[in-house]
Amino acid sequence: MIDKILGFVAPHRCYGCTEIGAVLCHGCYDDIITDDFGCCVWCMTPAPDMNQCRECTKKLGITGAWVVGERSEVLKRLVGDHKYLSVREAGGIMAQLLSERVAVLPADTVVCAVPTINQHIRQRGFDHAEILARMFARQRNLTYVSLLERKTQLSQHQLKRAARQRAARDAFGLKSPINNKPVMLIDDIVTTGATLEACVRLLQDGGASQVYIGVIARQPLE
Ligand SMILES: [Zn+2]
Ligand SMILES: [Zn+2]
Repeated sequence: MIDKILGFVAPHRCYGCTEIGAVLCHGCYDDIITDDFGCCVWCMTPAPDMNQCRECTKKLGITGAWVVGERSEVLKRLVGDHKYLSVREAGGIMAQLLSERVAVLPADTVVCAVPTINQHIRQRGFDHAEILARMFARQRNLTYVSLLERKTQLSQHQLKRAARQRAARDAFGLKSPINNKPVMLIDDIVTTGATLEACVRLLQDGGASQVYIGVIARQPLE
């Protein structure tokens, strides 16, 4: 109801074609869904169906990985507006896109997010990754649990590539026991993958029976 009223006062423009109506019109939504990412989220070699190649699957022990698309155009705008302008509808549509990408998960899967740096949460007034993960959990009828926490508050942007990996290992901690449940880890953007990988390790060491990851957008290689 409130959405309808707001829609009347300030109608949405499609993030893709700018047509007035929905946050993302059917055509632009379908364009994203049918444009399979097709690459391994870790090493960017071709990987159809699931976005993880055989070597990386073996190396990391992750049961499933999905990426909605490359971080460009529509996805870039959606991620940016959700994160920096708190556009709730942008988060909602991204959770829906991700939900459509991800295969059926075990019914007892716990959904969690890569935790945001405290300073960023204060600046933005909310934790964008947590909101995405909560929305995804709701769409899939799964439980969201805040499993991970930030131990160090250094932004990854401030670090060079090699240093990112080292920093990522010490940056996170496990907040609560997982008790042999499958875990779906969600983040909005993946760049080098060091952060995600560090979080995956923690979840595996913390007793997750399986780990899955879901990412909205992969930063293109330079
Ligand atoms: Zn459109
Ligand atoms: Zn790979």
